[in-house]
Amino acid sequence: MSQKKIIIMGGGFAGLRSFYHLKEYDKHFDITLIDKRAFSLEKPALPEVAFAGSKVEHTLIDLKHVIEHHGGHFLQDEVVKINPKLNHIHLKSGAKVEYDYLLITTGAFKDFNAIKGFDKYGYSMCDDVHAVKLWERLKNFKGGHVVIGAAKSEFGHRVDAPDLKAPCEGPIGEAMFMTDYYLRKKGFREKSTIDVFTPGEIFFEDVGDLVRNKVGGVMQERGINLHLNKVVKEITATEMIYEDGSSLPSDLSIIIPPYKAHCVFKDSGLGDDKGFIPTDKTMRHLDYDNIFAAGDINALAQPKLGHIAVHQADVATSTLIKEVTGKGEILPFKPEVFCIMNMGGMDATLIYSDVLYGGPHDIAIHSPLARMMKWSFDNYYFYTHGHMPPTFTLEILEKFLELFQEHEK
Ligand SMILES: Cc1cc2nc3c(=O)[nH]c(=O)nc-3n(C[C@H](O)[C@H](O)[C@H](O)COP(=O)(O)OP(=O)(O)OC[C@H]3O[C@@H](n4cnc5c(N)ncnc54)[C@H](O)[C@@H]3O)c2cc1C
Repeated sequence: MSQKKIIIMGGGFAGLRSFYHLKEYDKHFDITLIDKRAFSLEKPALPEVAFAGSKVEHTLIDLKHVIEHHGGHFLQDEVVKINPKLNHIHLKSGAKVEYDYLLITTGAFKDFNAIKGFDKYGYSMCDDVHAVKLWERLKNFKGGHVVIGAAKSEFGHRVDAPDLKAPCEGPIGEAMFMTDYYLRKKGFREKSTIDVFTPGEIFFEDVGDLVRNKVGGVMQERGINLHLNKVVKEITATEMIYEDGSSLPSDLSIIIPPYKAHCVFKDSGLGDDKGFIPTDKTMRHLDYDNIFAAGDINALAQPKLGHIAVHQADVATSTLIKEVTGKGEILPFKPEVFCIMNMGGMDATLIYSDVLYGGPHDIAIHSPLARMMKWSFDNYYFYTHGHMPPTFTLEILEKFLELFQEHEK
C-alpha cells in the first residue's frame, strides 16, 4: 500500500494534535512536520511566566525529539511559498517539498509592530520572549498606572464565523487579575490603578451574560476599571493613546497585538480577504480538496483558542483518515469556549460557554479547583510532550459542568 505524504505546517496545539492522531494510522501516512521554531510553545502557560515568574522552559516542547521519536520527519524551516496547483511548498532554506495532503496549522501572526511605540514602551505575554521581558519589568515595578487590553483585529468574510474584534481576551483577564494579585502581595496596590480596555462594545465578546457578569463582579471588587470601544493606536512612556483621540495615563502598558494571517497564504492564493484560510466544516480548504487548516489560522476558528484549535485538528484528521483509510467517522465541528483563567495565587475561574454559537451553556466557576485543573493541564501537556488529557477525563468534566449548570438554575 502506498503511503500518502502529509505535510503538517506548524507544530503548535493544532499541529501536534494532528500529528499524534495521524500517527495512529502509520501504515497509511508518511508525515513531515515543519516548523520555523525548534520548540512548540504552550501559550496558555505564558501568563504564569509573565506575572508570576514561572520558568519559561516549562512552556517549550522540543519538536525534533518528539516528532522523530514517534517516527515522523521534522524540518526546522519556514514555509515561504505554497503552490497548491502543483502540490508542493518552498522553504526559506531553498528546499522544495511535495505533498499529497497539506495541513496548515501555523497559528496567527501577532503584529506587535502595528502599534506605534510598542517596541520601546509596550509589554505583552503573547510569546516566550515578551513574557520573560514583562516579568523582569513587573519585578521592578513599584506601583503606578497599569493599562491592559487587546488591540483590534480584523477578519475576512468568506466563511460564516463570529466577527470578533478581540479574538482572545482570556489572557487579558489573566493579566489584569494576576497584576492586581501581584501588586497587593507586594504592597503596591494602593498606589496603583489598573485600567482595562477592549476594542469591542462589550468585554469578553465570546461568552454570554452570565460569565461576563461574574467576571465583571470580581473586577469591581478588585477596583479594576473597564473601558469599552477603545482601539489602541500608540504607546508612549506615559500614555496609552486610542484612535478616538482619548488616552489613559500608563506607566506599564500591556497589550495583545492585532492577530493577522502570515503573508504566505495571501501570496499563495490560499487566504480569504484578510489572509486567513477559508474551509468548510470538515476543515477542508474551500478551493483545494487536499489542503486542510486547523487552529488560529482557520477563518472558522473564533475565538482563537487552543481548545478550538485542538477540536479543529480532530475534525480535520478524522476527515483525512476516513478519506484515506475508510476508517472511523468524520467528527462534527462543534465550537465552544472552554478555558481556565488564572487570577493570581490559588485563584482561578473556569469558563465554559457556547452561547456564541447558539448553545445553552454559559458557566463560570470561580474556585481554587479551577487553579488546580489548569496547573494539572499545563503539567500534563508538558510532560507528555503535547498530548491532551485522555478523552474520558474531558467527558467526565463535561458531565460535571452540565450538573453544575442545572444546580445553578
Ligand atoms: C498568552 C496567551 C494565553 C492563552 N491562553 C489560552 C487558554 O488558557 N486556553 C486556550 O484554549 N487558548 C489559550 N490561548 C490561545 C492559544 O494559545 C491559541 O489559540 C493556540 O496556540 C493556537 O494553536 P495553533 O496550533 O493554531 O497555533 P500556534 O500554537 O500559534 O502554533 C503555530 C506554529 O506554527 C509555526 N509557524 C508559523 N508560521 C510558520 C511558517 N510559515 N512555517 C513553518 N512554521 C510556521 C509557529 O512557529 C508555531 O509553532 C492563549 C493565547 C495566548 C497568547
